[in-house]
Amino acid sequence: MTTPTFANYINGEWHESAQTFEDRNPAKTDEVVAQFSKGTAQDIANAADAAACAFPAWSATAGPARGAILYKAADLLDRRFESLAAEMTREEGKTLPEAKGEVRRSINIFRYFAGEGARMPGFIVPSERDRVHMFAIRKPIGVAGLVTPWNFPSAIPAWKLAPALVCGNTVVLKPASAAPLSSWRIVEALHEAGIPRGVVNFVAGSGSELGSALIAAKPLKAISFTGSCQIGNWLHAEASQRRLRIQLEMGGKNPTIVLADAEFNSAVENVANAAFFSTGQKCTATGRAIVEDAIYDKFLTALIERTRKLKVGDGMQPGIDIGPLVDQNQLDTVLRYIEIGKKEVGAPKIGGNRITTGGLEKGYFVEPTIFADVEESMTIAREEIFGPVLAVMRAKNFDDAMRIANNTAFGLSSSIQTTNLSRVFEYIPRAEAGLLTINLPSAGVEYQLPFGGTKDSSFGPKEQGPAAMEFYSDYKTVYLKY
Ligand code: NAP
Repeated sequence: MTTPTFANYINGEWHESAQTFEDRNPAKTDEVVAQFSKGTAQDIANAADAAACAFPAWSATAGPARGAILYKAADLLDRRFESLAAEMTREEGKTLPEAKGEVRRSINIFRYFAGEGARMPGFIVPSERDRVHMFAIRKPIGVAGLVTPWNFPSAIPAWKLAPALVCGNTVVLKPASAAPLSSWRIVEALHEAGIPRGVVNFVAGSGSELGSALIAAKPLKAISFTGSCQIGNWLHAEASQRRLRIQLEMGGKNPTIVLADAEFNSAVENVANAAFFSTGQKCTATGRAIVEDAIYDKFLTALIERTRKLKVGDGMQPGIDIGPLVDQNQLDTVLRYIEIGKKEVGAPKIGGNRITTGGLEKGYFVEPTIFADVEESMTIAREEIFGPVLAVMRAKNFDDAMRIANNTAFGLSSSIQTTNLSRVFEYIPRAEAGLLTINLPSAGVEYQLPFGGTKDSSFGPKEQGPAAMEFYSDYKTVYLKY
């Protein structure tokens, strides 16, 4: 079977490039899932110009009509649900059930924001003056650049595209090179749903080349980025010079506090889930389990036992809990951190190796790995690893656990496992993170509420839920004397 080639989408047309790049299956690296046209800086400039040309008409289109196209695209994605999920597993490596969950979420995101087209909430408030009517309406920003990572290759593009479009903006999407197909499928659905030419543009290719071109594109008014702190901070510096509106969602080193009064079995399950599912490649994954001294040994033993039962393998196979890392780069990074961990704290309690047996030798598979007695100053307690590696840390009591949890530059998600309601209400204001979970895994959010972090993890307005409208729209305030 020949590998299909996927073109970029600029001004309503599919553009093939002279060069292509491969989208490979990280579970079987000899399998090329797709070839992608390698976009150039000129493609980005053309895409931004097309988006600028399309903006006046799209922004003048009634909100419900914009929403109707999003509903149609959602229906098309829904019809292709099974094949989209299978493609995602093959390009990114997450298990098929996880991929199905993500595709379902993208569809829900499109339907949720399609509905916003008919709401577009503004303000009407009474004036202090006689016969003055005053109100504020929403207006779009203009051309938005969307730069997305590979770990949620469908949901993150969806949660940027849908609010941007329904608010009346036009966009240029630059997906991650490791997994561009899932977002290409969304663009395909928008095309088939009748999105006017130039409203959505898609250019895949080198992040550094296309990122620079995007920042330099004159029509650009806003940029929404999800990815590493390194790239996000660079984009922020560049975007500030042009006074672009910017939104950044970046890394984390998320804690889960386990108190002695936690419901024990579910705490073990929640930590194992948050640390290892999706191969630890969730921005909201737990990287640090901070366990109260009174149950530390018992908890560690139970967590190791639970981890031993996790099945690593090709996510297309039934019964697999953990798929491969996404690419060689991630594999090298994770193995490097495991070596650092061994030097800092000794051998891991479980895991610590690449898996090269049992048919997994052609994939980027790593054993789920637990380091115990990790200290706050250690690299593996401070830096994001973005793989199935957990640091277990000992806390004297609740206050000590809170201090350790907050002792990080990051602030994306944070979790606590406890049955003590007072502790919960003390935890909520004290936890330095944008997303809190209580008696749930630190990862696993829904689209109806604001999403995003604090401290070095994030910058700018939140994504998802009603909050997403804030980034993609501005207010126009009207005073009217009658
Ligand atoms: P990354 O290397 O920063 O890449 C993210 C995106 O930026 C990709 O599309 C990449 O393109 C592009 N890029 C690379 N260099 C660029 C440049 N100079 N200018 C503009 N864009 C550039 O991050 P990643 O490895 O894909 O994703 C993992 C990171 O994302 C982790 O730190 C994780 O925590 C974070 N993340 C955060 C959230 C959140 O909501 N907070 C969610 C998911 C992931 P190429 O792929 O072509 O290099």
